[in-house]
Amino acid sequence: MADERANEAADEAADETIFSKIVRREIEADVVYQDDLVTAFRDIRPQAPVHILLIPNEVIPTADDVKPKHEPALGRLFTVAKQLAEQEGLSGGYRLMVNCKDDGGQEVYHLHMHLLGGGPLGPMLCGAVRDERHPAAGANGGRA
Ligand code: AMP
Repeated sequence: MADERANEAADEAADETIFSKIVRREIEADVVYQDDLVTAFRDIRPQAPVHILLIPNEVIPTADDVKPKHEPALGRLFTVAKQLAEQEGLSGGYRLMVNCKDDGGQEVYHLHMHLLGGGPLGPMLCGAVRDERHPAAGANGGRA
């Protein structure tokens, strides 16, 4: 029983991320939206005029860890992203992006959706690896 509790505590500690501290308002962030399932805040190093991160309040480390039970929170990310895009005046469009693990360029292991906008964002990938199996894809923006 004591072992079980110790394991649970260790799991919780392992799940702790800088973003969970933002959810609990333990560290400062420019939070633009929060409800029972998700939180959204401005990225500390914006890559576009509008750069907001949307996260599930519960830690899901990566897109690879998604389970059916997460569908309500993940669905909410999209409805809130759309609402925030409207509030931010992104009527010309925007980009929603989720990086997954090292190859995907994920830095913070608390699944998050980037909402980017405020002007033309350019090609989707820069510096992408070329895949010899699919030569039309990769760093040349998909041109053959
Ligand atoms: P990713 O590379 O997809 O994991 O993105 C992580 C993002 O989190 C980066 O764009 C960082 O600038 C951003 N970030 C890291 N720490 C904070 C923080 N304390 N507040 C806001 N954004 C952060």
